[in-house]
Amino acid sequence: MQPLFDSHCHDFLDEQGTVVRDPACLSRHCVVASFSSTHWESLLSCAIPHQDCWIALGLHPAYAGQWCGETRCSLEGLVTDQRVVAIGEAGLDRTSEVPQSLQEQVLRHQIRLACAVNKPLVLHCYRSHGRLVDLLREEGAERVGGLIHGFSGGYDIAKKYLDLGFCLGIGPVLLRHNARRLPAVVPRLPAAGLLLESDRMATGCREHILQAVAQQTALLRGCSMEDLAWETWCSSRRVFRLPEWP
Ligand SMILES: [Zn+2]
Repeated sequence: MQPLFDSHCHDFLDEQGTVVRDPACLSRHCVVASFSSTHWESLLSCAIPHQDCWIALGLHPAYAGQWCGETRCSLEGLVTDQRVVAIGEAGLDRTSEVPQSLQEQVLRHQIRLACAVNKPLVLHCYRSHGRLVDLLREEGAERVGGLIHGFSGGYDIAKKYLDLGFCLGIGPVLLRHNARRLPAVVPRLPAAGLLLESDRMATGCREHILQAVAQQTALLRGCSMEDLAWETWCSSRRVFRLPEWP
């Protein structure tokens, strides 16, 4: 059976954001994303390329206040490592207490860094899609593309991201009983524009959630699990430019 690729998870991070190595968690076929600068070095040491476990380094908008000369230098140095396959998660979040202007400034820096090192972006966006699309266009982010993680918007906004060369991460939002918009969008997405994600922390049952998201996605798209697993596997390897496996 074709394994599922988890395009966005937080293995090695507990609910407090502390890096913990859980020996019970089998971190294979996934991209583990940081959100705070305190994760970067220890998270990088958790990467396991021979298990197809890769890392994304960046600042989540809620942690944009950590951006300074020192964090910038540190990030610039770390992201050239081969185990780092993306910059993120970065983005915009309307509900965060961090001022929007600071969020945008830190996001712009991270987009420029992604372009400079030619690696894709992993983006978090909450209630700021119009603004995010503007920033991606202004900064020429289509040169690197990436993942709009935890997507839950409508088709019109999905189309804008796809046109900019980004894939949409379908995650646990799809499993909510009251989900309406996302189940309507999922069948309309091109196969190459969709990735699967668990968005789980180290303590969550990541593979179980990913399996459930995949089953629901396959059901909505009227395709087999095998086809979905293969298509999202290929798309994940393309977006994150991962080596062939095995
Ligand atoms: Zn996440």
